[in-house]
Amino acid sequence: MNKKEKNNTIKAVVNKFASGKKYLYYLTFLMSAISGITQIIPFYFLYKLIREIVFSDGGLDKSLLINYVLMIFVSQIAGVICNFVALLASHILAFRVEKNMRKEGVRQLVKLPIGFFQNEDTGRLRRIIDDNASKTHTFLAHNFPDITSAFIIPILLIALIIVVDFRLGLVSILGIILSFFFMGKIMNSDMKEKMAEYGKAGEDLNINGVEYIRGIPIVKVFNQSVESFQKFYHAIMNYDEKARDLVFKFKKPMLLNSVSLNAPVILLGPICLLILRGDQNPRELIVKCAFYIMISFLLLNAFMKVSAINESKRKFEISVEKLYEILNLKPMEIIETESIDKAGIFFNNVSFTYPGRETRAVDSVDFHFKHGRNYALVGGSGSGKSTLIKLIARLYDVDEGEIYIEGMDVRSYETEKLLSEMAIVFQETSLLKGSLKDNITMGGNYSDEQIMKAIDDAQCRDILERMDGDWNTLIGTKGTFVSGGEAQRIALARAFLKDSKILLLDEASAYADTENEALIRDSIEKLKKDKLTISIAHRINSIIGADEIIVLDRGRIIDSGTHEELLERNEEYKKLFSEYESSIEWKIDTGGRDA
Ligand code: ATP
Repeated sequence: MNKKEKNNTIKAVVNKFASGKKYLYYLTFLMSAISGITQIIPFYFLYKLIREIVFSDGGLDKSLLINYVLMIFVSQIAGVICNFVALLASHILAFRVEKNMRKEGVRQLVKLPIGFFQNEDTGRLRRIIDDNASKTHTFLAHNFPDITSAFIIPILLIALIIVVDFRLGLVSILGIILSFFFMGKIMNSDMKEKMAEYGKAGEDLNINGVEYIRGIPIVKVFNQSVESFQKFYHAIMNYDEKARDLVFKFKKPMLLNSVSLNAPVILLGPICLLILRGDQNPRELIVKCAFYIMISFLLLNAFMKVSAINESKRKFEISVEKLYEILNLKPMEIIETESIDKAGIFFNNVSFTYPGRETRAVDSVDFHFKHGRNYALVGGSGSGKSTLIKLIARLYDVDEGEIYIEGMDVRSYETEKLLSEMAIVFQETSLLKGSLKDNITMGGNYSDEQIMKAIDDAQCRDILERMDGDWNTLIGTKGTFVSGGEAQRIALARAFLKDSKILLLDEASAYADTENEALIRDSIEKLKKDKLTISIAHRINSIIGADEIIVLDRGRIIDSGTHEELLERNEEYKKLFSEYESSIEWKIDTGGRDA
């Protein structure tokens, strides 16, 4: 807890993120302190000046007056310069910290397990890094230079007030003492929690608002109301409740706080009149009264600034804490392990449970997938087929056991090296916002001939022709939108180009149209040739045609063998297979009716 608190102090943030610019932190402090002092000096000399004029009785000491005016002028100029230097230093410091925060955040994202992004809203991650880095910038650049002066000014003012006239000084300070009392009451209450709840409600509202806007087409199509978007509706109501909570809770102490801060300005006049009734020198008293009213305004201003800075400092700390939510996530580490003498993919007693789940998605799996063979994974929904594939690609780390690829533990591979060992084609292909070529090469260096061959092998020529033969055309522009089936063919072209010895394939369970289905089926058959292929099979042909079928049930491999062997000995497989068959018949039937 203590350590966490230390992470979000200004000093800790500067130490971690200001690489090479830490001296600017001290420079800002120094310049801000001097600027604070120079803001008070003119008032002191102004007081002296007015006093000199009022008490001169016709014999004005001009050189003394000129000296006072000069002191006022010089301290103001010095104040402007110091303030400028403080702001300059704080801005450079803030830019450095912001840049490094973004860099660290993105670096951390790259190091996280790929599977982490499946359960996370990527927009939220981007916002955590972007928003909080820029909030940190705003605080360091604009509020941080005020901190020293905001604390120095009230101290100097209080000293000045006490030195000039003790009784009137007390009246001026009384408001501050009362204000401290009421602020203390606010601080000692559950304000931090209330503020955090309010902040969290705002964040939820933001996220759900974005989701709602994305879903507007659905709202329109199904003629739904905002209430039907339960999450968004609850987020609005929750925000409303938390905002009211905060406002009503602090209404009274905040009001009393404002009244006490303003009271001296109002009370000074009547108090001076009361003192005047005694034997006080009226001229002296009037000068002092004018001085105190002026200073009380300054003091009020300075204290407002202190509480505003406290507020923005709290926001700054919350922003840094949020950023640490990402920076403290456990990255995927590369570990050194002994290699073993087994080619292909070898599962050694592998178990895995998804974060937050109780039951294992993969349970004690031992299996050796050999080169040149074609494996089909079959099993009911949720039996662990996709998870098995994800573990091979190290989208998640296993909890127990080891997975070896070409004799090396997947955890000992650099990510790029591991992914270069295999080509993966998932059911739902997501395309990059880029050209057809970008989407096929994925940044790799290939010759035009190689790219063209991949396009042909994956039967993507029709897509290219729609782009008038220019593969640099951005997908989605000039009428070049692609269907789900076409996107999958583009993914197959990627796999052809990669030409790795291992192919992980999640066959599409439903194709958009029969034309695409035939094209995809042909290219998949071609792609599988001479490779170690592990497919999540949805088509009878790819199940029957597999060299070995692996039957999964609740994360365990319950049997494996050829289609004939399994049909003969495995009841579960027989059941699964008849389900596959009847689903095909059902499709044909439906197709017939629709036609
Ligand atoms: P299907 O054929 O329906 O796609 P599957 O055999 O591929 O199913 P998996 O997707 O591997 O099964 O799921 C195995 C188990 O893990 C299921 O209980 C599923 O609910 C759970 N699971 C899958 N993905 C996640 C996830 N991202 N987070 C939490 N649990 C998950």
